[in-house]
Amino acid sequence: IREAKTKYYYTSSAEIRPLARSSFSHKGTFGHAFLVAGSYGMMGAAVLATKACLRSGVGKITTHVPKKCVDILQISVPEVIVDISHNDYHFDGIWNFTKYDAVAMGPGIGLENIDKFEEFLKKTPNKKLIIDADGITFLGQRPELLKLLPKNTILTPHPKEFKSLIGRGWENDFEKLEILSEFAVSKKIIICLKGKNTAVALPNGEIHFNSTGNSGMATAGSGDVLTGIILSFLAQGYPPEQAAIQGVYEHGLAGDQAAKNRSERSMIASDIIENLR
Ligand code: AMP
Ligand code: MG
Repeated sequence: IREAKTKYYYTSSAEIRPLARSSFSHKGTFGHAFLVAGSYGMMGAAVLATKACLRSGVGKITTHVPKKCVDILQISVPEVIVDISHNDYHFDGIWNFTKYDAVAMGPGIGLENIDKFEEFLKKTPNKKLIIDADGITFLGQRPELLKLLPKNTILTPHPKEFKSLIGRGWENDFEKLEILSEFAVSKKIIICLKGKNTAVALPNGEIHFNSTGNSGMATAGSGDVLTGIILSFLAQGYPPEQAAIQGVYEHGLAGDQAAKNRSERSMIASDIIENLR
């Protein structure tokens, strides 16, 4: 019998920290987020993540999408500022992140242009960064890119993406959690391993299990909503650990409300956004 090196916690409402919202605030007060998401045929991911980011309180969001996809985003989310790719179908930008408070990359981007992903990462030192979905799969394909991640970068893999990230599987849940924690500690990053009771692993060796959410969230686009929420919290100034733990919690809470209104079976990812409070 091995002993767990990891310290485990269970997130309750006591861990949730509301951000002050002064009546003298303006949109600059609540941060400017930058999101790279979507590709031709996968634009729902960009729409969902952008909307979720706005609904979670960010001041402004700029979303980078392929040239042929601009109308879809602009019409679906009139509040967004669009940064237009040089490529018709995939992301490809001249990245300059100086004016953004936090950056997210990954939902719906597809696996076509890994070289552009490397270029992107080289422009993000010292940024508050979150990487999801195909961005995580890229990191699994090119592990040497992991050293480009700023400290406290947040990754949000589902189990299959986590497997591709670490390049191996596990025999049981105990081993999975030990691998998860070791990876977060050694790379100095935050990993939200998604599923029922999403496990948020911190660089200090702690794992925080989420207490909200339901099986109605096992539906397409659900994870894209989470990326938008965490991006929003990062841009508004939450420390990355809090943004991750609280983002996961609020995502589940909105999912629970959506299930009450709609039932677990018929709720869809957009309903999670509609129930963010
Ligand atoms: P993705 O696979 O990227 O769309 O992410 C799915 C999202 O839904 C994650 O935030 C999961 O934690 C959540 N989710 C999926 N299945 C369940 C479940 N059975 N119970 C609670 N949350 C779930
Ligand atoms: Mg996903």
